[in-house]
Amino acid sequence: MKPKIDYLRLSLTDKCNLNCFYCNPLEKKDYLDNNDILRLEEIVRVVRVLADLGISKLRLTGGEPLIKENICTAVSLFKKIDGIEEVSLTTNGVFLFEMAEALQANGLDRINISLDTLRPKRFEQITGQDCFEHVWKGIEKSIEVGLFPLKLNMILLKGINEDEIIDFAKLTIKHKIDVRFIELFRTSNRLSVQQTGSLKSSEAKETIVSKYGELFPEGNVVGNGPAEYFKLKEAKGTIGFISNLSKHFCGACNRLRMDSAGRIAPCLFSGYLYNVKELIRSGASDENIRELLKHIILDKHKHNKKSAVIDKHIEMSSVGG
Ligand code: SAM
Repeated sequence: MKPKIDYLRLSLTDKCNLNCFYCNPLEKKDYLDNNDILRLEEIVRVVRVLADLGISKLRLTGGEPLIKENICTAVSLFKKIDGIEEVSLTTNGVFLFEMAEALQANGLDRINISLDTLRPKRFEQITGQDCFEHVWKGIEKSIEVGLFPLKLNMILLKGINEDEIIDFAKLTIKHKIDVRFIELFRTSNRLSVQQTGSLKSSEAKETIVSKYGELFPEGNVVGNGPAEYFKLKEAKGTIGFISNLSKHFCGACNRLRMDSAGRIAPCLFSGYLYNVKELIRSGASDENIRELLKHIILDKHKHNKKSAVIDKHIEMSSVGG
């Protein structure tokens, strides 16, 4: 059965304030000009048409979405679109302490925070910035203002953070946090990505099981996407595993990605991008836009029938993970 395409990951900027070594956004030489970035009203127009075609969940990403100056306005406009049931956001958390309350007040439903280590020194080594404590305060603030469920995404980096798998798992015992262990995608040509080893999520799972004995399957997680969820005994949060490398989940993929230049990728692995911005700026009607978006969704269904082959490369720092 064809999966319903109901989820859009929307990258609002290609810029980021951190420089994670496997993503390297600050070393990009080809940042988009302001004029090449879709304006908020243009994005709202695309999302309106997509909502009419079945998209009901929106995830705002980047670059870093919290450096986008009108991010709170964006959240509230997206929330008002008919058919959009949920607006969530993926962030590195650096500005969360200051912004969590306003984001929630503007209608943000929930938040994912990318955090590869719980050790301040290591955080600086991975991201280039010494601000772990501030990110942690942002996480606490998000819980306080009710941005639930809160997910922490940890990329499994071989030889770098594998000794923290237990510490991350332990967080779920005391806190209402869903921790997700994610295998590194090799969608980028970057040497840093190609040279970084990734652990398999099954290895992370084995590490946790050998410490705690048992993990209990947990089906009831909001926005569970491609992750498999488990729980430790009497834990408040859950533990998820996303196996980009070791298991392909193309057949069940329900998502489109649009970058900040208005290019839609039906699939992270196909490398094919449709340019919606060009169409909008050529004076197209909503009906013209709808025709293109319908075509993209059909194209995605075709791709879902194939196996996942990485034939071209898309940068995570542009499409936002
Ligand atoms: N700045 C925001 C953040 O840090 O969450 C959003 C953009 S960032 C590109 C989104 C996610 O993509 C982060 O969790 C990051 O770790 C992840 N990411 C970047 N490169 C990746 C790769 N090669 N494989 C898997 N995840 C990757």
